[in-house]
Amino acid sequence: MVAWVTATVPGMAKADLAIRDVVIHDGSGGPPAEGDVEVRDGRISSVGSAGAASVDLDGAGRVLCPGFVDVHTHDDGALVRDPGLGFKVAQGVTSVVIGNCGFSAVPVVPGEATGGALDFRGGWGDLAGYGATVEGGGPAVNFISQVGHNTLRQAAMGLEKRPPTSAELATMRGWVFEAMEQGAVGLSTGLMYQPGRWAATEEIVELARAAASHDGLYNTHLRNEGDRLLEAVDEALLIGRESGCPVHLSHHKAAGQANWGKVVDSLAKVDEANGTGADVTLDVYPYVAGSGPMYQYFDLERVDVGLAEVIRIASCLAFPELEGRMLTDVAAERDVGLAAVVREVLTHPLGKQTICIQFLMREEDVETNLGHPLVMVGSDGIPDVRGQPHPRLFGTFPRVLGHYVRDREVLPLGEAVRRMTSLSCDRFGLAGRGRVAEGDWADLVVFDPRMVRDLATWDDPRLEPAGVALVLVNGQVAYRDGEHTGVGAGRALRFRELGPQG
Ligand SMILES: [Zn+2]
Repeated sequence: MVAWVTATVPGMAKADLAIRDVVIHDGSGGPPAEGDVEVRDGRISSVGSAGAASVDLDGAGRVLCPGFVDVHTHDDGALVRDPGLGFKVAQGVTSVVIGNCGFSAVPVVPGEATGGALDFRGGWGDLAGYGATVEGGGPAVNFISQVGHNTLRQAAMGLEKRPPTSAELATMRGWVFEAMEQGAVGLSTGLMYQPGRWAATEEIVELARAAASHDGLYNTHLRNEGDRLLEAVDEALLIGRESGCPVHLSHHKAAGQANWGKVVDSLAKVDEANGTGADVTLDVYPYVAGSGPMYQYFDLERVDVGLAEVIRIASCLAFPELEGRMLTDVAAERDVGLAAVVREVLTHPLGKQTICIQFLMREEDVETNLGHPLVMVGSDGIPDVRGQPHPRLFGTFPRVLGHYVRDREVLPLGEAVRRMTSLSCDRFGLAGRGRVAEGDWADLVVFDPRMVRDLATWDDPRLEPAGVALVLVNGQVAYRDGEHTGVGAGRALRFRELGPQG
């Protein structure tokens, strides 16, 4: 595609390469510098000028920056099943944060699937076992884990709509301690989902304290992202204050037309809290629709028709013919009500596995989020690639660079790079990563700033982005000019630990 490799010799996968005459955005958000970057033994060995290297790449006209960190993923199962993670690597992503929205790979109850959005059976007993399993499969990217409250609660007490007993709470706390000792970032919740929605604030405070004892993070999919968004932000801030955890708000948004614009108020709350001693950050995905397991959004006794009106089916094992279609079109075609269509899908034996896309947000709010200095980028992609998945799985990072930086000028390139690299690494404890600095791990991406853009659309979501020329993970070439090398150099990262030879 791009003939810019000037010299190659065999043995490249063993490292030692130089990228010359490239514009370096180092992740700090400061002005770029032009020069060379040299990589040796998995690390950045020189920035500015480079000596002789066994592989020499001409970076003229391109930007080099730290590899992107997808801070909000649901790749816990994909890392086991599909370690190539082509949809991430092609975007320049070199590390992913897993265990979001309260759903994680641990704890695992032997013989049982982990609950909710993940729903896979693990052969591991704990987080260390999960990490070893994934590393053994040669993942394309690095990963770092959170422990999820929904998974904890389901493992401890099933889908009971009641407070935990003190013994159940102690069991959950024990799992949080264990995960933290094994390198977890912190506790995540998904208080909009089952079974997390049945937990009172105090239950979360107790579990967050266990994370706080290891300086961990409290990361939350808020209890409400629409009519009660601001109250839900208050709850998250309270949990942070009571537990001692720093707080991270996942996929910040205002859902539903009546709530559009509220992100201004919730960001003001965050700024106010930070101004009075709290430590709060956020992330956003650059799209106006969300996506998730459809059963989580509906009460079949009282189907929310307003929500059904903005839903498109992504994947549906029960009725594959509905994939890619708006529920309103299906209802009109069959001359039935929307509620009937929702019930038909969700009461089918395979109905719970339906993934839907909800067009609930507005563009202006996405731009407000991206304009805030504490907002990172997380795709929230669901790696179920059947049917017509949400394009965020394939396009998030190039979409920020192409649409929001270059076309819309919502934020400068260097600042976007900072929010997708160093800010994310500092917050989620990816030590020695997120900056183009001598001695740091060589997680790097090279792209053409005039060409980079997402190509994935609602109707054609699987298209890889344009303009990403090179992706290095731990100094190894994971992707070059549209080709996935399959090298599998990703590692299991532990919170704030430098790793081997660190
Ligand atoms: Zn979520």
